[in-house]
Amino acid sequence: MSTYYRTSVAPVCGDHFLGPSLAQVCPASQFLMFMSILDTFIRSQESIAQLCERVRPIDPPELNYDFIVVGGGTAGSVVASRLSDLPEWKVLVLEAGPDEPPGADIPSMVAMFLGTEIDWQFRTSNEQNACLSSGGSCSWPRGKNLGGTSVHNGMMYTRGHARDYDNWAAMGNDGWTWREVLPYFACSENNTEINRVGRKYHSTGGLLSVGRFPWRPDIASDILAAAAEKGYPLTEDLNGDQFTGFTVAQTMNYDGVRRSAAAAFLRPFRQRRNLQVALNATVTKVIVENMKAVGVQYYQDGVPRVARASREVIICGGAVNSPQILLLSGIGPKDHLQSMNVNVVKDLPGVGENLHNHVSYTVSFTINEPNEYDLNWAAAAEYVGFQRGPMSSTGMSQITGIIPSRYTSPDHPDLQFFFGGYQASCATTGEVGTLINGDRRSISISPTYLHPRSKGTLRLASNDPFAKPVIHGNYLSDPMDGTVLLEGIRIALSFANTTAMRKHNMTLDHTPLQACSQYPFLSDDYWRCAIRQDTGPENHQAGSCKMGLASDPMAVVDPRLKVHGIKGLRVVDTSIMPQVTSSNTAAPAIMIAEKAASFIKSEWAVPNTQWYGNHALPPPPLPSATSSHHHAWKHPISRKSHSH
Ligand SMILES: Cc1cc2nc3c(=O)[nH]c(=O)nc-3n(C[C@H](O)[C@H](O)[C@H](O)COP(=O)(O)OP(=O)(O)OC[C@H]3O[C@@H](n4cnc5c(N)ncnc54)[C@H](O)[C@@H]3O)c2cc1C
Repeated sequence: MSTYYRTSVAPVCGDHFLGPSLAQVCPASQFLMFMSILDTFIRSQESIAQLCERVRPIDPPELNYDFIVVGGGTAGSVVASRLSDLPEWKVLVLEAGPDEPPGADIPSMVAMFLGTEIDWQFRTSNEQNACLSSGGSCSWPRGKNLGGTSVHNGMMYTRGHARDYDNWAAMGNDGWTWREVLPYFACSENNTEINRVGRKYHSTGGLLSVGRFPWRPDIASDILAAAAEKGYPLTEDLNGDQFTGFTVAQTMNYDGVRRSAAAAFLRPFRQRRNLQVALNATVTKVIVENMKAVGVQYYQDGVPRVARASREVIICGGAVNSPQILLLSGIGPKDHLQSMNVNVVKDLPGVGENLHNHVSYTVSFTINEPNEYDLNWAAAAEYVGFQRGPMSSTGMSQITGIIPSRYTSPDHPDLQFFFGGYQASCATTGEVGTLINGDRRSISISPTYLHPRSKGTLRLASNDPFAKPVIHGNYLSDPMDGTVLLEGIRIALSFANTTAMRKHNMTLDHTPLQACSQYPFLSDDYWRCAIRQDTGPENHQAGSCKMGLASDPMAVVDPRLKVHGIKGLRVVDTSIMPQVTSSNTAAPAIMIAEKAASFIKSEWAVPNTQWYGNHALPPPPLPSATSSHHHAWKHPISRKSHSH
């Protein structure tokens, strides 16, 4: 940590267009002055903004590459990084958006850049049972920038549960048991708290820094005490043996700065001549000749272009854009493609099906504290100078809990709790103690159902590649989803009824919903109605290009993530999950990308592959898991060749 304040406000390296400023993401003009000054300071701090280490984009790209990665998001950054380990492989990344804004690297600014031009701003439509207060349309933000959604997310590092992966494998997806995916989580990881979490499931030396934020609000310890009072376990590590309970989560940050996938996996290799990244480049179609993907059509800054791939095209557009790109390329349900006047290349009925997401409901409370801005000059100075204090964390959002409801088995928990409050995001004057208003302070708890049964669809609205797809989340169509969520709401409410939280006078802050006035306030029927009105659509979209065997007509990619029936084409992101994992999805997206890169390298028979930059090789795959529990693995102490 620095021992002095760094005061220069001139960016050391060029400040090319990097998305919106902090002033632009705060809600009104009274934030302009303070947030503009803060933005200038942030851009000038190389340890935060990393302007000198940014990837230098290519414009225009060349025509011929070995591999083209479509989407430089969470998974795409990892795939491109790993493939370009081989100097003889020329890799092009085509990313629809710009590089990430320095302001988004401040943890407390989490999700503030959503709703701007670096968010795809998708919405679902025609929901019969969800988001009814917004006309049956749920908001689905997605990052449209290098680093993708990892630039906007809560950074929470959760891997899901052993049973998730063992279930994938049980569907015929060889190689995806928990024991077989664990090494691919570990090979990315540089756990900065290894002495706390241990090496049984964690690793050091990888490209992705993982550890708790340097700061948390005092109330965090009371939330954990409340959970303990209710009889829930407290855990040091939800990714370890104690995989249920409440905790202050580890996150993808380094020294109080967000580590997006692009920052972690692409920036260290910005000097590689064989790794080229094109920004503001939107892929509109995969070019398929003789049932082999040979390149892509794309628009860069409005100019139509083509790039050719001699080996593979790898689609990493995320759970919304990847199926859309396949459909635009004529790969998908035949009838739908014909109705959209898209030339059918391959009838693949599963494209855009099985689209699903966790579902939540936010319960708001007030506590006995003044409702003041968490961002002020003191917090700003502490962050700009030392990367510490309220801005170096997401406030209460770093707390989470994962527990089983009564509807699942203890080894496959299905409820996650997210918390909100104490987010140092926008301020007007910066004066310490400035009140937002005279109200009490608000905090929230969002119970989230992790095993949703309702499945939706994605379809093209037209054959215009720039038209947003038609997304039907079909939330809560299976009554079980609402039933488990209701149990989660009851648990959330019970937090107010603990000694730990009573001292804050934690009080439910919920005006009865007009639309639910026919039900007794706070009855089960009332909450079921409220869930349908103000559904929390969550941000863990998955499943729309699901992995499965060719014998499953709805499978889109095979267990090596190759699109069924098309050579040289893979999909690598959360869309391949047959069923969404039981927690946040960024770490699984990174693991999927690590696995994909190793598939690709082994299939192209690369000898003596340098797999993981300067990190040691992962351990060889472990024998197939037969039980549903986490298994120990040994960290490698010597380099071994990979078995794929
Ligand atoms: C508000 C929010 C909070 C979240 N919090 C957490 C959390 O705390 N922890 C966690 O683990 N997960 C969290 N998530 C979820 C997690 O971030 C995502 O599941 C994950 O990042 C998805 O990775 P991906 O690679 O599948 O897609 P993305 O990261 O979205 O990458 C897709 C990329 O492809 C690009 N692209 C799309 N179409 C095209 C095209 N046609 N041409 C070129 N480029 C294209 C996009 O611009 C984008 O960069 C959160 C998500 C949100 C929105």
